[in-house]
Order: sequence, then C-alpha cells, then structure tokens
Amino acid sequence: MVIGVSTMPQSARPQRLTILGATGSIGLNTLKVIAAHPERFELFAISANTNVTRMADLCMRYQPRYAVMHCDRAALQLQQQLPSDSTVEVLTGAQALVDIASDDQVDCVMAAIVGAAGLMPTMAAVKAGKRVLLANKEALVMSGQLFIDAVADSGAQLLPIDSEHNAIFQCLPQSVQQQLGRADLAAVGVQHILLTGSGGPFRQLPLTELAQQTPAAACAHPNWSMGRKISVDSATMLNKGLEYIEARWLFNCQRSQLQVLLHPQSVVHSMVQFVDGSVLAQLGQADMCTPIAYGLSYPERIDAGVAALDFTQLGQLNFSAVDSVRYPCLQLAIDACWQGQWATTSLNAANEVAVAAFLAGQLRFTDIYSVCAEVLAAISPTTLNSLAAIVSLDEETRRVAQQHVARYALC
Ligand code: NAD
Ligand code: MG
Repeated sequence: MVIGVSTMPQSARPQRLTILGATGSIGLNTLKVIAAHPERFELFAISANTNVTRMADLCMRYQPRYAVMHCDRAALQLQQQLPSDSTVEVLTGAQALVDIASDDQVDCVMAAIVGAAGLMPTMAAVKAGKRVLLANKEALVMSGQLFIDAVADSGAQLLPIDSEHNAIFQCLPQSVQQQLGRADLAAVGVQHILLTGSGGPFRQLPLTELAQQTPAAACAHPNWSMGRKISVDSATMLNKGLEYIEARWLFNCQRSQLQVLLHPQSVVHSMVQFVDGSVLAQLGQADMCTPIAYGLSYPERIDAGVAALDFTQLGQLNFSAVDSVRYPCLQLAIDACWQGQWATTSLNAANEVAVAAFLAGQLRFTDIYSVCAEVLAAISPTTLNSLAAIVSLDEETRRVAQQHVARYALC
C-alpha cells in the first residue's frame, strides 16, 4: 500500500466509506485513491454484481466490514473463496445494497454502479443525508427533480464525479457548489456551461463504416479507460447526452445555458463562460483518480496519484461543434431532456437494453440509435411523481425496447 502525502487534523477521524460498484473502473480507482490516504479514509462496505474473483481479492486486500453481491449464488461463492478466519461479512441482494448505502456509521458513499441498478442504493444514500459521490449518472438521468429534491430535503452533500461535471463544479462559485440543483446560474454571472466530449473512437471513421463496428472497436476509447457500457455510450455520444441531462439537473440549467463542444484531446474537462467574457476551465490528465480524489477530499485537495500535465507535450487543443449526422444519439438526448422526465427515464432504459444487445452481438452499432428513437416515439408521455412510477416506466420501456431489438436482431 502506498502512503500518500496528505495530512489532516489529528482530532478528525477517518471518513467511513461505502463503494457501490467496487469491482468496476470507478470503484477500483476509488480504492486506489483511498489506499494512498489511510489516515483519511476507512472502508466500510463494498458491492459488486457477479465478479466473485475480483471481489474476493478486494476483500482480502482492503478488509471492508461488509461485501454485498447481487445474488445469493455469487455471495455463496465469495464466502467460499474467503479464508475461514475472514472478518468480512458477506451479504446479498437489493436491501443489503440500500443498507450499506444508508448505514448510520457511513459518512460517504461512492455511487459507481453502472445503469439503473444504481438508482435505489444511490437514492438511499441521498435520503440518509450522506456525502454522495455521484458517478452513476443514470440514477440522476432517471429521477431528475426527485433526486434533487431528496438532496435538498435530507441535506446530503452531492459531489459530481463524472469528469465533466466535476470540472464544471470546480469552476463554479462556492454558493452554487453548496446548492447543487437549486442555484440560479444567471445570478452568479454564468452565461454558458460548455460540456466537452472527445467524440469517442469513431470520430473520424467514414460514416458508411459505422454500422459494421464491433463491440471491441466501440470499447476502445482513445483517451479514457472505462467500463463497457459507458465506452459504447461514448462511441455513440449518448454518454454526452446523458451528461447533458445530468448537467441540467446538477447545475439547474436553462436550455440556453448548456452547450456541447467536441474536444478530441480530453484535456479540457469542461468550462464555464461568464457574462464578463471570462471562461474558467478545469484541465487535467484523462484519469478518473483526479475527480474521485477531489470528491473524496472536498473542499481540500489530496494527492490523486496522477501525473502533472506537461504543457510542453500537449500539442494542439481543438474544439468544434458536434456533427449531428455522425452522433444522432446526442440530439435525441438533448430533445428528451426538455420533453420531460418520462422521456429521459425511457431513453436511459432503451439505451441500456440496446447497448447490452450490441455488446452481445445482437445489434449493429447504428441500430442503437434506431432502437432508442423508436422506443421513445412509442412511449406515451406521463407524469412521474415517485420512485415507484420511475421504476415502473423503466420496466415498461425495457419490455418495449426488447421488442424493438428483436426486430433488428442479428442472431
Ligand atoms: P463498470 O462496468 O466498470 O463497473 C460497474 C460496477 O457496477 C461493477 O462493480 C459491477 O459489479 C456493478 N454492477 C453492474 N451491474 C450491477 C447490478 N445489476 N447490480 C449491482 N451492481 C452492479 O462501470 P464504470 O465504468 O466503473 O462506470 C460506473 C458508473 O460511473 C457508470 O454510471 C458510468 O456512467 C459512470 N462513470 C464512469 C466513468 C469511468 O471512467 N469509468 C467516468 C464517468 C462516469
Ligand atoms: Mg464523463
């Protein structure tokens, strides 16, 4: 274990942390950061879907109090892989996830489950008033105003981990940082939030070749190393669409205040443009340890184990408008954002089904857009006033999306 350089007041006890989705890309990076600062952080619980081998390794290395697996079978296998004298308590199922996210002993929850599966435990952390490090953007996309209202009601401290939103957060005044989702951007002189995106691996591919692209090619992101679902979303730029919706809620944006820019180098992680002509940007390596460390230590800063940017080696930084023919998913998400909560909840569900089918070799890359657009057109607008209503629409949309996937299915 590497011992970092951070110091903290002697009297303060370490922050107790739960990591939802510990075996994933964000989860592992979070473990890396906290392992470098043992005087600041203490691991309370970790969770995973079904990756028993990796979870067993994490349990032995980091010794959390609880380890939660998605199903009984995986939990049993994990128990069998742990030494007989292990003190890690293995739990299973949806309620256990909610419990480790909301336990009285927990200070901080890293929400890093991918997709809609993260909604309930993330909301549990919010409702319990925790410091919530939000990587699981789908939870916010699905629940929008309900999520923001729950933060306000419980007094939870919300910190964005998605690199763009973390960058924007860093560029905004403290008054906005402490009132996420409710601050008035115009009142603090913000004109535009400029969300940057690299364009993914197919930015320069001839359009006629898009349809044949394989899951391996779609997951080979030029700048970032991430889980498979978000990698495909980056290739379609639906990820930027989800981030647009995420930014709308986190920063309480009007349509005229939110713009997307293509920036292939992923050095400027996003920017804020003010009425006086100033633009503030956050720059850094394409390494999620930076926003994770910022979220963990806010309002202080700690060593994230990330190399300093060497400006003599950067070369050019380019910016351009997004090509809507190459990336139709982005406009679909932007339109959904302003149509209403039903539209973004449905788009998220349709996309999860379509991406899973693409990764399973059942859909062509370009069919992801077709399925999402058709499903959105097939869903009737409805008002979503509760988590139950959101979950119900998510399930209905998945059923409709499966039918549309079947029409395109390759095998
Ligand atoms: P990943 O696929 O690498 O990891 C996902 C984690 O969620 C794993 O621990 C997995 O076991 C768990 N999980 C998956 N399905 C589950 C289920 N049904 N029930 C319980 N647990 C489940 O994903 P990732 O790249 O780490 O992304 C996690 C989240 O963070 C996503 O919402 C993504 O959009 C967001 N995010 C990731 C990055 C990145 O660099 N990886 C950057 C910004 C935002
Ligand atoms: Mg991002």
